[in-house]
Amino acid sequence: MKKQIAILGSTGSIGTQALEVISEHSDMFEVYCLTANSRVKELADQARRFMPAAVVIADENRYEELKGLLSDLPDIKVYAGKKALDEIVEAYPIDMVLTAMVGFAGLSPTIHAIKAHKIICLANKETLVVAGELICRLASENDAPIIPVDSEHSAIFQSLIGEGDNPIEKILLTASGGPFRNYTMEQLATVTKADALRHPTWHMGAKITIDSASMMNKGFEVIEAKWLFGIGADKIQVLIHPQSILHSAVQFCDGSVKGQLGVPDMRIPIQLAFTYPDRLHLNGERLDLLKHPLEFFEPDLEKFRCLALAFEAIRKGGNMPCIVNAANEIVNRGFLEDRCGFLQMGEIIEKTMNRVAFSSVSDYDTYIATDAEARRVAEELLKQGK
Ligand code: NAD
Ligand code: MG
Repeated sequence: MKKQIAILGSTGSIGTQALEVISEHSDMFEVYCLTANSRVKELADQARRFMPAAVVIADENRYEELKGLLSDLPDIKVYAGKKALDEIVEAYPIDMVLTAMVGFAGLSPTIHAIKAHKIICLANKETLVVAGELICRLASENDAPIIPVDSEHSAIFQSLIGEGDNPIEKILLTASGGPFRNYTMEQLATVTKADALRHPTWHMGAKITIDSASMMNKGFEVIEAKWLFGIGADKIQVLIHPQSILHSAVQFCDGSVKGQLGVPDMRIPIQLAFTYPDRLHLNGERLDLLKHPLEFFEPDLEKFRCLALAFEAIRKGGNMPCIVNAANEIVNRGFLEDRCGFLQMGEIIEKTMNRVAFSSVSDYDTYIATDAEARRVAEELLKQGK
Protein backbone atom coordinates (compact mmCIF):
# COMPACT_ATOMS: atom_id res chain seq x y z
CA MET A 1 0.00 0.00 0.00
CA LYS A 2 1.36 3.38 -0.98
CA LYS A 3 1.41 6.00 1.74
CA GLN A 4 -1.12 8.76 1.07
CA ILE A 5 0.26 12.23 1.63
CA ALA A 6 -1.53 15.57 1.98
CA ILE A 7 0.62 18.62 1.28
CA LEU A 8 -0.50 21.91 2.78
CA GLY A 9 1.30 24.60 0.79
CA SER A 10 2.36 22.49 -2.19
CA THR A 11 3.35 25.46 -4.37
CA GLY A 12 5.98 26.75 -1.92
CA SER A 13 9.64 25.96 -1.44
CA ILE A 14 9.07 22.99 0.90
CA GLY A 15 5.95 21.87 -0.99
CA THR A 16 7.68 21.65 -4.38
CA GLN A 17 10.70 19.85 -2.91
CA ALA A 18 8.34 17.39 -1.23
CA LEU A 19 6.77 16.72 -4.64
CA GLU A 20 10.25 16.03 -6.05
CA VAL A 21 10.80 13.44 -3.31
CA ILE A 22 7.40 11.88 -3.98
CA SER A 23 7.99 11.63 -7.72
CA GLU A 24 11.39 9.96 -7.10
CA HIS A 25 9.59 7.34 -5.01
CA SER A 26 6.22 7.07 -6.72
CA ASP A 27 6.22 3.36 -5.90
CA MET A 28 5.91 4.23 -2.20
CA PHE A 29 3.99 7.50 -2.00
CA GLU A 30 0.87 8.98 -3.49
CA VAL A 31 -0.37 12.53 -3.22
CA TYR A 32 -3.87 12.58 -1.74
CA CYS A 33 -4.29 16.31 -1.71
CA LEU A 34 -2.52 19.50 -2.73
CA THR A 35 -3.26 22.96 -1.37
CA ALA A 36 -2.10 26.53 -2.01
CA ASN A 37 -3.02 30.02 -0.97
CA SER A 38 -3.60 31.81 -4.27
CA ARG A 39 -1.29 30.44 -6.99
CA VAL A 40 -3.99 28.69 -9.00
CA LYS A 41 -1.99 28.01 -12.15
CA GLU A 42 0.86 26.23 -10.31
CA LEU A 43 -1.61 24.28 -8.21
CA ALA A 44 -3.50 23.13 -11.32
CA ASP A 45 -0.23 22.11 -13.03
CA GLN A 46 0.79 20.10 -9.97
CA ALA A 47 -2.63 18.45 -9.85
CA ARG A 48 -2.35 17.46 -13.50
CA ARG A 49 1.01 15.85 -12.78
CA PHE A 50 0.22 14.09 -9.49
CA MET A 51 -3.50 13.39 -9.90
CA PRO A 52 -4.51 13.87 -6.25
CA ALA A 53 -8.01 13.04 -5.02
CA ALA A 54 -8.49 16.69 -4.07
CA VAL A 55 -7.07 20.20 -4.36
CA VAL A 56 -7.83 23.16 -2.12
CA ILE A 57 -7.20 26.81 -2.81
CA ALA A 58 -7.34 28.87 0.39
CA ASP A 59 -8.41 32.04 -1.41
CA GLU A 60 -12.09 31.49 -2.17
CA ASN A 61 -12.05 34.07 -4.96
CA ARG A 62 -9.87 31.72 -7.01
CA TYR A 63 -12.23 28.76 -6.83
CA GLU A 64 -13.88 29.22 -10.24
CA GLU A 65 -10.54 29.71 -11.96
CA LEU A 66 -9.12 26.53 -10.43
CA LYS A 67 -12.27 24.58 -11.21
CA GLY A 68 -12.05 25.79 -14.82
CA LEU A 69 -8.39 24.79 -15.16
CA LEU A 70 -9.19 21.26 -13.97
CA SER A 71 -12.56 20.85 -15.71
CA ASP A 72 -11.27 18.01 -17.90
CA LEU A 73 -10.22 16.04 -14.78
CA PRO A 74 -13.49 15.30 -12.96
CA ASP A 75 -11.83 12.79 -10.63
CA ILE A 76 -9.99 15.62 -8.85
CA LYS A 77 -12.30 17.29 -6.34
CA VAL A 78 -11.83 21.04 -6.10
CA TYR A 79 -12.45 22.99 -2.89
CA ALA A 80 -11.75 26.48 -1.60
CA GLY A 81 -11.48 28.30 1.70
CA LYS A 82 -10.01 27.85 5.15
CA LYS A 83 -12.72 25.47 6.29
CA ALA A 84 -11.98 23.19 3.35
CA LEU A 85 -8.32 23.02 4.47
CA ASP A 86 -9.44 21.92 7.94
CA GLU A 87 -11.75 19.30 6.48
CA ILE A 88 -9.51 17.84 3.80
CA VAL A 89 -6.73 16.84 6.23
CA GLU A 90 -9.25 14.66 8.08
CA ALA A 91 -9.95 12.52 4.99
CA TYR A 92 -9.77 8.87 5.93
CA PRO A 93 -7.19 7.64 3.34
CA ILE A 94 -4.52 10.20 4.36
CA ASP A 95 -1.57 8.73 6.31
CA MET A 96 0.65 11.81 6.54
CA VAL A 97 0.11 15.55 6.41
CA LEU A 98 3.06 17.76 5.45
CA THR A 99 2.41 21.19 6.94
CA ALA A 100 4.34 23.34 4.46
CA MET A 101 2.15 26.41 4.50
CA VAL A 102 3.51 29.57 5.98
CA GLY A 103 2.49 31.38 9.16
CA PHE A 104 -0.32 31.32 11.72
CA ALA A 105 -2.69 30.02 9.03
CA GLY A 106 -1.12 26.58 9.55
CA LEU A 107 -2.42 26.27 13.10
CA SER A 108 -6.02 25.29 12.44
CA PRO A 109 -5.44 22.60 9.77
CA THR A 110 -2.59 21.14 11.86
CA ILE A 111 -4.95 20.78 14.83
CA HIS A 112 -7.55 19.10 12.60
CA ALA A 113 -4.94 16.69 11.22
CA ILE A 114 -3.76 15.80 14.74
CA LYS A 115 -7.33 15.17 15.90
CA ALA A 116 -7.77 12.88 12.90
CA HIS A 117 -4.70 10.89 14.11
CA LYS A 118 -2.55 11.65 11.08
CA ILE A 119 1.25 11.58 11.10
CA ILE A 120 2.34 15.22 11.06
CA CYS A 121 5.45 16.06 9.03
CA LEU A 122 5.91 19.52 10.47
CA ALA A 123 7.54 22.29 8.47
CA ASN A 124 5.17 25.07 9.59
CA LYS A 125 7.13 26.09 12.69
CA GLU A 126 4.80 29.02 13.43
CA THR A 127 2.23 26.49 14.68
CA LEU A 128 4.58 25.38 17.48
CA VAL A 129 5.69 28.95 18.20
CA VAL A 130 2.10 30.08 18.67
CA ALA A 131 0.59 27.03 20.32
CA GLY A 132 3.35 24.57 21.27
CA GLU A 133 1.76 23.54 24.53
CA LEU A 134 -1.66 22.91 22.98
CA ILE A 135 -0.23 21.09 19.95
CA CYS A 136 1.95 18.77 22.05
CA ARG A 137 -0.97 17.99 24.36
CA LEU A 138 -3.28 17.21 21.42
CA ALA A 139 -0.62 15.15 19.64
CA SER A 140 -0.11 12.98 22.69
CA GLU A 141 -3.85 12.61 23.39
CA ASN A 142 -4.51 11.61 19.78
CA ASP A 143 -1.40 9.45 19.22
CA ALA A 144 -0.40 11.66 16.31
CA PRO A 145 3.38 11.59 15.86
CA ILE A 146 5.04 14.88 14.92
CA ILE A 147 8.11 14.40 12.74
CA PRO A 148 10.17 17.55 12.24
CA VAL A 149 11.03 18.73 8.73
CA ASP A 150 12.94 21.86 9.74
CA SER A 151 16.57 20.86 9.06
CA GLU A 152 17.84 21.66 12.58
CA HIS A 153 15.04 19.76 14.27
CA SER A 154 15.40 16.85 11.89
CA ALA A 155 19.10 16.78 12.87
CA ILE A 156 18.20 16.75 16.59
CA PHE A 157 15.53 14.10 15.95
CA GLN A 158 18.11 11.97 14.10
CA SER A 159 20.67 12.45 16.89
CA LEU A 160 18.13 11.15 19.42
CA ILE A 161 17.34 7.92 17.56
CA GLY A 162 18.21 4.99 19.84
CA GLU A 163 18.84 7.19 22.88
CA GLY A 164 15.67 6.29 24.81
CA ASP A 165 15.51 8.30 28.04
CA ASN A 166 19.23 9.11 28.12
CA PRO A 167 19.52 12.55 29.71
CA ILE A 168 20.26 15.45 27.38
CA GLU A 169 22.66 18.07 28.71
CA LYS A 170 22.06 20.53 25.93
CA ILE A 171 21.04 21.05 22.34
CA LEU A 172 23.40 22.80 19.94
CA LEU A 173 21.12 24.62 17.49
CA THR A 174 23.05 25.87 14.50
CA ALA A 175 22.26 28.96 12.41
CA SER A 176 23.90 30.19 9.22
CA GLY A 177 23.72 33.75 10.57
CA GLY A 178 22.04 34.91 7.36
CA PRO A 179 23.30 37.50 4.89
CA PHE A 180 23.99 40.16 7.57
CA ARG A 181 26.10 38.10 9.94
CA ASN A 182 29.05 40.49 9.84
CA TYR A 183 27.15 43.76 9.35
CA THR A 184 27.43 46.68 11.79
CA MET A 185 24.34 48.32 13.29
CA GLU A 186 24.88 51.25 10.89
CA GLN A 187 24.83 48.90 7.93
CA LEU A 188 21.77 47.04 9.25
CA ALA A 189 19.87 50.32 9.43
CA THR A 190 19.92 50.69 5.65
CA VAL A 191 19.71 47.14 4.26
CA THR A 192 16.97 46.51 1.69
CA LYS A 193 14.63 43.60 1.12
CA ALA A 194 16.72 42.59 -1.91
CA ASP A 195 19.78 42.31 0.38
CA ALA A 196 17.78 40.33 2.93
CA LEU A 197 16.38 37.95 0.32
CA ARG A 198 19.90 36.89 -0.66
CA HIS A 199 20.39 34.03 1.81
CA PRO A 200 23.94 32.61 1.70
CA THR A 201 23.16 28.89 2.06
CA TRP A 202 19.43 28.11 1.72
CA HIS A 203 16.89 28.94 -0.99
CA MET A 204 13.54 29.32 0.79
CA GLY A 205 10.23 31.20 0.68
CA ALA A 206 10.33 34.99 1.21
CA LYS A 207 8.92 35.05 4.75
CA ILE A 208 11.38 32.59 6.27
CA THR A 209 14.25 34.22 4.34
CA ILE A 210 13.51 37.57 5.98
CA ASP A 211 13.11 35.82 9.35
CA SER A 212 16.54 34.24 8.79
CA ALA A 213 18.12 37.61 8.02
CA SER A 214 16.67 39.09 11.26
CA MET A 215 17.39 35.81 13.12
CA MET A 216 13.78 35.67 14.30
CA ASN A 217 13.79 32.34 12.49
CA LYS A 218 16.38 31.03 14.95
CA GLY A 219 14.37 32.36 17.87
CA PHE A 220 11.34 30.50 16.53
CA GLU A 221 13.46 27.39 16.17
CA VAL A 222 14.47 27.56 19.84
CA ILE A 223 10.75 27.59 20.71
CA GLU A 224 10.12 24.78 18.21
CA ALA A 225 12.91 22.68 19.79
CA LYS A 226 11.61 23.34 23.28
CA TRP A 227 8.23 21.82 22.41
CA LEU A 228 9.40 19.04 20.10
CA PHE A 229 12.05 17.71 22.47
CA GLY A 230 10.79 18.89 25.87
CA ILE A 231 13.97 20.86 26.57
CA GLY A 232 14.16 24.15 28.48
CA ALA A 233 15.39 27.11 26.45
CA ASP A 234 18.29 27.48 28.94
CA LYS A 235 19.58 24.17 27.60
CA ILE A 236 19.50 25.27 23.96
CA GLN A 237 22.65 26.95 22.70
CA VAL A 238 22.44 28.83 19.41
CA LEU A 239 25.65 28.58 17.41
CA ILE A 240 26.41 30.56 14.27
CA HIS A 241 27.75 28.10 11.72
CA PRO A 242 28.03 29.88 8.36
CA GLN A 243 28.55 26.73 6.27
CA SER A 244 25.19 25.12 7.22
CA ILE A 245 26.77 21.65 7.26
CA LEU A 246 26.26 20.58 10.88
CA HIS A 247 22.49 20.91 10.98
CA SER A 248 22.37 20.71 14.81
CA ALA A 249 23.54 18.38 17.57
CA VAL A 250 22.72 16.99 20.98
CA GLN A 251 25.11 16.83 23.94
CA PHE A 252 24.38 13.95 26.34
CA CYS A 253 25.10 13.54 30.05
CA ASP A 254 28.45 11.81 29.38
CA GLY A 255 29.69 14.78 27.35
CA SER A 256 29.22 12.93 24.06
CA VAL A 257 27.89 15.10 21.21
CA LYS A 258 25.87 13.57 18.36
CA GLY A 259 24.96 15.65 15.36
CA GLN A 260 23.76 15.27 11.79
CA LEU A 261 25.75 16.68 8.89
CA GLY A 262 25.09 17.05 5.19
CA VAL A 263 24.99 19.56 2.38
CA PRO A 264 22.14 22.07 2.78
CA ASP A 265 19.32 20.28 0.93
CA MET A 266 15.80 20.32 2.40
CA ARG A 267 14.85 17.21 0.44
CA ILE A 268 16.88 15.20 2.99
CA PRO A 269 14.75 16.06 6.06
CA ILE A 270 11.55 16.05 3.97
CA GLN A 271 12.26 12.55 2.65
CA LEU A 272 13.25 11.25 6.09
CA ALA A 273 9.99 12.56 7.55
CA PHE A 274 8.13 10.53 4.91
CA THR A 275 10.19 7.35 5.29
CA TYR A 276 11.17 7.32 8.98
CA PRO A 277 12.50 5.02 10.41
CA ASP A 278 13.87 3.92 7.02
CA ARG A 279 16.20 5.85 4.74
CA LEU A 280 15.86 5.81 0.98
CA HIS A 281 18.34 6.72 -1.72
CA LEU A 282 18.37 10.42 -2.64
CA ASN A 283 20.15 11.84 -5.66
CA GLY A 284 22.13 14.94 -4.88
CA GLU A 285 25.45 16.45 -3.93
CA ARG A 286 27.38 14.57 -1.25
CA LEU A 287 29.20 16.21 1.63
CA ASP A 288 32.95 16.63 1.09
CA LEU A 289 34.44 17.72 4.41
CA LEU A 290 37.75 18.54 2.73
CA LYS A 291 35.96 21.34 0.89
CA HIS A 292 34.03 22.65 3.87
CA PRO A 293 35.95 23.84 6.92
CA LEU A 294 33.43 24.07 9.76
CA GLU A 295 33.33 27.28 11.81
CA PHE A 296 31.25 28.24 14.86
CA PHE A 297 30.61 31.64 16.45
CA GLU A 298 28.44 33.09 19.19
CA PRO A 299 25.33 35.00 18.04
CA ASP A 300 25.24 38.76 18.67
CA LEU A 301 21.99 39.36 20.57
CA GLU A 302 22.36 43.13 20.49
CA LYS A 303 22.63 43.31 16.74
CA PHE A 304 20.03 40.60 16.21
CA ARG A 305 17.39 41.92 18.60
CA CYS A 306 14.71 39.57 17.24
CA LEU A 307 16.60 36.57 18.58
CA ALA A 308 16.78 38.15 22.04
CA LEU A 309 13.04 38.96 21.90
CA ALA A 310 12.23 35.35 21.08
CA PHE A 311 14.23 34.20 24.13
CA GLU A 312 12.32 36.73 26.23
CA ALA A 313 9.04 35.39 24.88
CA ILE A 314 9.99 31.84 25.88
CA ARG A 315 10.91 33.01 29.39
CA LYS A 316 7.53 34.76 29.77
CA GLY A 317 5.64 31.82 28.22
CA GLY A 318 1.83 31.89 27.93
CA ASN A 319 0.63 33.82 24.90
CA MET A 320 3.89 35.83 24.55
CA PRO A 321 5.33 33.69 21.70
CA CYS A 322 1.94 34.05 19.95
CA ILE A 323 2.22 37.85 20.31
CA VAL A 324 5.75 37.77 18.88
CA ASN A 325 4.68 35.60 15.98
CA ALA A 326 1.75 37.84 15.03
CA ALA A 327 3.80 41.05 15.29
CA ASN A 328 6.56 39.38 13.30
CA GLU A 329 4.15 38.40 10.50
CA ILE A 330 3.08 42.05 10.27
CA VAL A 331 6.58 43.55 10.23
CA ASN A 332 7.95 40.82 7.97
CA ARG A 333 5.29 41.70 5.39
CA GLY A 334 5.86 45.42 6.11
CA PHE A 335 9.56 45.03 5.35
CA LEU A 336 8.82 43.08 2.14
CA GLU A 337 6.46 45.88 1.08
CA ASP A 338 9.03 48.61 1.91
CA ARG A 339 6.80 49.89 4.71
CA CYS A 340 9.45 49.58 7.42
CA GLY A 341 13.19 49.33 7.84
CA PHE A 342 15.13 46.26 8.91
CA LEU A 343 15.84 47.40 12.49
CA GLN A 344 12.30 48.73 12.91
CA MET A 345 11.03 45.16 12.76
CA GLY A 346 12.51 44.35 16.18
CA GLU A 347 11.37 47.69 17.62
CA ILE A 348 7.76 47.14 16.61
CA ILE A 349 7.75 43.55 17.87
CA GLU A 350 9.11 44.68 21.24
CA LYS A 351 6.47 47.42 21.59
CA THR A 352 3.74 44.97 20.64
CA MET A 353 4.98 42.57 23.34
CA ASN A 354 4.63 45.37 25.89
CA ARG A 355 1.16 46.46 24.77
CA VAL A 356 -0.84 43.27 24.23
CA ALA A 357 -2.36 41.73 27.37
CA PHE A 358 -0.45 38.74 28.73
CA SER A 359 -2.33 35.50 29.33
CA SER A 360 -1.06 32.20 30.66
CA VAL A 361 -4.06 30.27 29.30
CA SER A 362 -2.99 27.89 26.53
CA ASP A 363 -6.23 27.24 24.66
CA TYR A 364 -7.14 27.76 21.05
CA ASP A 365 -9.49 30.71 21.64
CA THR A 366 -6.78 32.58 23.58
CA TYR A 367 -4.35 32.13 20.69
CA ILE A 368 -6.92 33.33 18.14
CA ALA A 369 -7.77 36.42 20.22
CA THR A 370 -4.09 37.16 20.98
CA ASP A 371 -3.10 36.81 17.34
CA ALA A 372 -5.82 39.24 16.22
CA GLU A 373 -4.97 41.82 18.89
CA ALA A 374 -1.20 41.61 18.32
CA ARG A 375 -1.68 42.04 14.56
CA ARG A 376 -3.86 45.09 15.20
CA VAL A 377 -1.30 46.69 17.54
CA ALA A 378 1.69 45.90 15.31
CA GLU A 379 -0.13 47.21 12.22
CA GLU A 380 -0.95 50.45 14.07
CA LEU A 381 2.69 50.88 15.11
CA LEU A 382 3.80 50.16 11.55
CA LYS A 383 1.45 52.86 10.22
CA GLN A 384 2.76 55.34 12.79
CA GLY A 385 6.27 54.52 11.59
CA LYS A 386 7.36 53.42 15.10
P1 NAD B 1 6.71 29.50 0.71
O1 NAD B 1 6.31 30.90 0.88
O2 NAD B 1 7.68 29.13 -0.33
O3 NAD B 1 5.40 28.61 0.49
C1 NAD B 1 4.29 28.73 1.30
C2 NAD B 1 3.16 27.83 0.84
O4 NAD B 1 2.05 28.02 1.72
C3 NAD B 1 2.65 28.16 -0.57
O5 NAD B 1 2.22 26.96 -1.18
C4 NAD B 1 1.44 29.05 -0.31
O6 NAD B 1 0.47 28.96 -1.33
C5 NAD B 1 0.90 28.48 1.00
N1 NAD B 1 0.24 29.48 1.83
C6 NAD B 1 0.76 30.70 2.20
N2 NAD B 1 -0.12 31.36 2.97
C7 NAD B 1 -1.21 30.56 3.09
C8 NAD B 1 -2.46 30.70 3.75
N3 NAD B 1 -2.79 31.80 4.44
N4 NAD B 1 -3.34 29.67 3.66
C9 NAD B 1 -3.04 28.57 2.97
N5 NAD B 1 -1.88 28.38 2.32
C10 NAD B 1 -0.98 29.36 2.38
O7 NAD B 1 7.22 29.01 2.17
P2 NAD B 1 8.29 27.88 2.50
O8 NAD B 1 9.65 28.47 2.49
O9 NAD B 1 8.02 26.65 1.73
O10 NAD B 1 7.96 27.62 4.05
C11 NAD B 1 6.79 26.90 4.44
C12 NAD B 1 6.87 26.61 5.94
O11 NAD B 1 7.99 25.75 6.17
C13 NAD B 1 7.13 27.85 6.80
O12 NAD B 1 6.44 27.72 8.00
C14 NAD B 1 8.63 27.83 7.03
O13 NAD B 1 8.99 28.44 8.25
C15 NAD B 1 8.89 26.34 7.08
N6 NAD B 1 10.28 25.97 6.70
C16 NAD B 1 10.73 26.23 5.45
C17 NAD B 1 12.03 25.88 5.09
C18 NAD B 1 12.54 26.11 3.69
O14 NAD B 1 13.66 25.67 3.39
N7 NAD B 1 11.80 26.75 2.81
C19 NAD B 1 12.87 25.28 6.03
C20 NAD B 1 12.37 25.03 7.30
C21 NAD B 1 11.06 25.36 7.63
MG1 MG C 1 15.61 25.69 10.02
